[in-house]
Amino acid sequence: MRPVNAVIREVAEENPTVRTFRFVPSFDPVPGQYLMVWVRGTDEVPMSFSYQDGITVQSLGEATEALFCLGPGKSVGLRGPLGNGFDLVGDRILLVGGGVGAAPLALLGERAREDGLEVTSLMGFRCSSDLIFRSRFEKMGDLVITTDDGSEGVCGRASAGLERLDPGSYDQIYLCGPEPMMMDVILRCRGFESRIQASINRYIKCGMGICGSCCLDPEGIRVCVEGPVIRADRLLKSEFGRYRRGPGGLKEYYRR
Ligand SMILES: Cc1cc2nc3c(=O)[nH]c(=O)nc-3n(C[C@H](O)[C@H](O)[C@H](O)COP(=O)(O)OP(=O)(O)OC[C@H]3O[C@@H](n4cnc5c(N)ncnc54)[C@H](O)[C@@H]3O)c2cc1C
Repeated sequence: MRPVNAVIREVAEENPTVRTFRFVPSFDPVPGQYLMVWVRGTDEVPMSFSYQDGITVQSLGEATEALFCLGPGKSVGLRGPLGNGFDLVGDRILLVGGGVGAAPLALLGERAREDGLEVTSLMGFRCSSDLIFRSRFEKMGDLVITTDDGSEGVCGRASAGLERLDPGSYDQIYLCGPEPMMMDVILRCRGFESRIQASINRYIKCGMGICGSCCLDPEGIRVCVEGPVIRADRLLKSEFGRYRRGPGGLKEYYRR
């Protein structure tokens, strides 16, 4: 798939390090699918859809900093929608997000409300100034917020907020955020892992299942095409939560 030229229509600052970029043209993604965003002269990096025509980006390094230098009228190359996306199941769902992981879940929750599902959201951030998409989640249904420093909502990680909810009562739970947080949620939900779908982050280079950079040990699941959304019972049989491979293929272990 070749990149299409997309013009930035609007840029919104969500918090000091996160911005939303809306493009022309728009796409028709399944929530959870992603785009390969080619910031010309710098790099091509994966970003989930946060809107049909938009992505929500945390500035971290070379590519994202270069993207932050672009404003309305400037253009990028976009390949997508790529990957599988979330499967909407049942009548009552729970969204659990951490940081910029809230981005694909906001689009998923809005789609679920359009389909008449009952949506509860549990969103974790480092502190109150990091919060994104509060009004989007509030419009969908109940929202529980956690912050690591206690400056808003429940004090602690997103998983701490699970104690306010009854995770077993939801037909499906959808996760996106830092891997240790997602693993913590999965382990607290033992017994119904098959009802959890997680959007996971691996080093995606080609985005078309050729290079093997994003494969999960030991099965070799290609996250870029068979993911990024993978059911938790499958993740528990993989490297997930223990290590991931960096740009050169070396294992990078998570601290426990
Ligand atoms: C399916 C998927 C969806 C994503 N959606 C979002 C999103 O909606 N919003 C958002 O802010 N971020 C998202 N990311 C993460 C985003 O791709 C990285 O933050 C971005 O690539 C950083 O690039 P950089 O050059 O700015 O930083 P670098 O300094 O190059 O890297 C900073 C961090 O980003 C990771 N990273 C760098 N390149 C890649 C790559 N090609 N694939 C995966 N990780 C990489 C590195 O491992 C490192 O941990 C997503 C990642 C994946 C795999």
